[in-house]
Amino acid sequence: MILPKIKEIRAYYCGGATAKAAGGGGDYHDQAGGHWIDDHIATPMSKYKAYEQSRQSFGINVLGTLIVEVEADNGVTGFAISTGGEMGCFMVEKHLNRFIEGRCVSDIKLIHDQMVNATMYYAGSGGIVMNTISCVDLALWDLFGKVLDTPVYKLLGGAVRDEIRFYATGARPDAAKEMGFIGGKMPTHWGPHDGDEGIRKDAAMVAEYREKCGPDFWLMLDCWMSQDVNYAVKLAHACAPYNLKWIEECFPPQQYDSYRELKRQAPAGMMVTTGEHHGTIQSFATLSETGVDIMQPDVGWCGGLTTLTEIAAIAKSRGQLVVPHGSSVYSHHAVITFTNTPFSEYLMTSPDCLEVRPQFHPLLVNEPVPENGRITKETLDKPGFGVELNRECDLVRPHTH
Ligand SMILES: [Mg+2]
Repeated sequence: MILPKIKEIRAYYCGGATAKAAGGGGDYHDQAGGHWIDDHIATPMSKYKAYEQSRQSFGINVLGTLIVEVEADNGVTGFAISTGGEMGCFMVEKHLNRFIEGRCVSDIKLIHDQMVNATMYYAGSGGIVMNTISCVDLALWDLFGKVLDTPVYKLLGGAVRDEIRFYATGARPDAAKEMGFIGGKMPTHWGPHDGDEGIRKDAAMVAEYREKCGPDFWLMLDCWMSQDVNYAVKLAHACAPYNLKWIEECFPPQQYDSYRELKRQAPAGMMVTTGEHHGTIQSFATLSETGVDIMQPDVGWCGGLTTLTEIAAIAKSRGQLVVPHGSSVYSHHAVITFTNTPFSEYLMTSPDCLEVRPQFHPLLVNEPVPENGRITKETLDKPGFGVELNRECDLVRPHTH
């Protein structure tokens, strides 16, 4: 079979600081006011009073969505979205394009290696450069699947289970339980600058939802890089009586020794997890060595599907789980092929967490949502990642080449 070549790559953005705010899409922090995702959530900036109440106040939504579209010379197109906005567009159209146009649609690993190595001098340990590379990589997988009329999960070797079970990340674990999810993960609202009172308040929140959700429903805390070891250990032990399943991302990504120490001092049986802000394969190898129980890469930020499969292999070799940070269809097609991903994350983007809304609303057409906390294999049986770009959104192409 002669496969087509890639004719053109194009990059667009929507939302973020240079466009209309509250665009949602790939930058899911870019929401309107009153949303649970911006309600006094503990962050590394919370120690500054002016930035304590709202993450948007320090600019969590400035980047906006990056959309990468690749077109083959037979007219088939693939696309993907991530967080990266206008800066990502520059990288795609002025730098990465040279590795893509003219290549066969199946040259995904070669293109990936060239993108990673050619940006190494300015990529640091990930960040927006890796977000952008991830978006290109996902667009290439989507194109490859659409050219072959095959879902991406089958290109990866096929499903190892018939359905994906989800836990919900949001502010209402009780509502998540009613909707059929297997667990609920809440953000912490307080941090080390709040002292023991902060620990009491967040532990009280866990206690409240343990009471509402019964003894067996999973409850977890997501700490978004906001803590130090002493605070995290005390919080973990304060939540142990309420059977907290795991405590997530207590520290900044590169504080490997802190993760190792938390794992050593955490209550028996409570899992320690992290990974969504790690951006290189090497950082996941180091993270794995700390002994964390679950690695949580984001497929839109870690280097794409090509890197995610490598991270899953690192985790598997140590008996660790890999449960990606929720990234909708881009996660679904990967995790259904991983033997060490027994469940997955669904990020609630409805303002009050009382309904299941497509995570990347309004940018993807036909984006599936869990029903009764599940997505079946058959739901994914569409070419590529099974979604189309909603061109009614206000897409801007700031650069061409
Ligand atoms: Mg998280």
